[in-house]
Amino acid sequence: MNGIVRTRFAPSPTGFMHIGNLRTGLYAYLFARHNGGKFILRIEDTDRERMVEGAEQMVYRTLAAAGIDYDEGPDRDGGVGPYVQSERAGIYREYAEKLVELGGAYYCFCTKERLESLHGENGTHTYDRHCRDLSPDEVKARIAAGEPYVIRQKVPDGVVSSYRDMVFGEISVSAEDIEDGVLLKSDGMPTYNFANVVDDHLMGITHVIRGTEYLSSTPKYNLIYDAFGWERPQYMHLPPIMKDATRKLSKRYGDANFEDFVAKGYLPQAVVNYVALLGWCPKNNAEKMTMEEMIELFDVDGISVSSSIFDEAKMRWLNGEYLKAMSEEEFLAVSRPWIEGAVGEGYDVREIARLMQTRADVLGEIPEKIAFLCSFGEYDLAMYEHKKMKVDLDVAKRAVKVSIAALEGLGEWDEESIKAAVQAAAEEAGMKSGQVMFSMRVALTGQPSTPGGAIEMAVVLGKDESMRRLRFSQELLDAKE
Ligand code: GLU
Repeated sequence: MNGIVRTRFAPSPTGFMHIGNLRTGLYAYLFARHNGGKFILRIEDTDRERMVEGAEQMVYRTLAAAGIDYDEGPDRDGGVGPYVQSERAGIYREYAEKLVELGGAYYCFCTKERLESLHGENGTHTYDRHCRDLSPDEVKARIAAGEPYVIRQKVPDGVVSSYRDMVFGEISVSAEDIEDGVLLKSDGMPTYNFANVVDDHLMGITHVIRGTEYLSSTPKYNLIYDAFGWERPQYMHLPPIMKDATRKLSKRYGDANFEDFVAKGYLPQAVVNYVALLGWCPKNNAEKMTMEEMIELFDVDGISVSSSIFDEAKMRWLNGEYLKAMSEEEFLAVSRPWIEGAVGEGYDVREIARLMQTRADVLGEIPEKIAFLCSFGEYDLAMYEHKKMKVDLDVAKRAVKVSIAALEGLGEWDEESIKAAVQAAAEEAGMKSGQVMFSMRVALTGQPSTPGGAIEMAVVLGKDESMRRLRFSQELLDAKE
């Protein structure tokens, strides 16, 4: 590659940052970093009507949380700014006028009514090039008279515009299929079609990485580069991410928003890792990768041309792998707010975290799994029936009595001491320790399934609460005759 690679991420602040947007930004970032290049953030806010309050801030927050670090952007000047399109209006006008001089564009004074009269059967129309050959004098006079106008692209006759996309290969569109579209609107704002070209050129972008929705308009943009005499960038278009077999993910409908996943207890790095796999497979087929590994492994050959389906179950699994791989301290730090939020004070958060680390794929599952810690009351005694273990109500009654006797006088309240005491007492009573443990777990929690066995439950509940619950269960069992 000649010269330094420069890529950009150009989100429009028109809604959430969904997984598809994030992936585009991530790939542009990975490609730049892999090649020792620069990554630029540009905010494309010329469509004022579709702007959503707060969406621009969300872009910054999401990139920061995702660990996608840009070298240049609205808050990091690299000398080719401004990096927000609405602040570049003067630049677009200057270049649109220059393009007219170069013969690549022209002024158009057609009224809305005239354009509407061109409507085809399906409500769309192709501009009939009515103003394409106005004389320069007429144009000057009409502008001087204050007539509103737009500037349109002058698509050369008879050419076929082709380029080689790095993912999709050869793409060709013939000029007769390209409309003389608007480049500068009557309010002086550029269309996306014009702004993307001017900005990518002036910002020195070498590789344009974006969604396939732009794949077939790129020949049209290339004609603008050609008319200016500018070097065209390389292009890498990315296949869509689908929510199912037929529907694309869409920010308009609030699908799959990065921040919502984090709020549900996904780790940002796990989401980013999962997103990287949506349409790209590294040569070594790795699934769990750090950002550094992704940078190192990223290659265009691994990008697929077919769309991928966003599979939350798979992301959940991957998130669980991240949680399990954490050190005890790291897991404690990320799970603490979830644990404290669910049970309040008075519990040994470290013990609960230890219990949860291998039992939750997403942090948001924790509150439900530990709800039994704070709520305990009358429960269905049928839970004690366990055929395989040969436990019925009578056995359970004896087992609970045995555990109370074993634990009442116990000084140390940790796994080892509790286990030793219960096992010894079971043996002495001539019962299988499995029968006692099973009954004790039900007696301690009143739940059919719990995130740990009897001993672990007793530890997290603490001695006082464990004894209170065992006695309560004993009464329940005794009352049943
Ligand atoms: N603002 C455009 C979008 O959000 C960016 C397209 C591009 O990367 O050129 O779709």
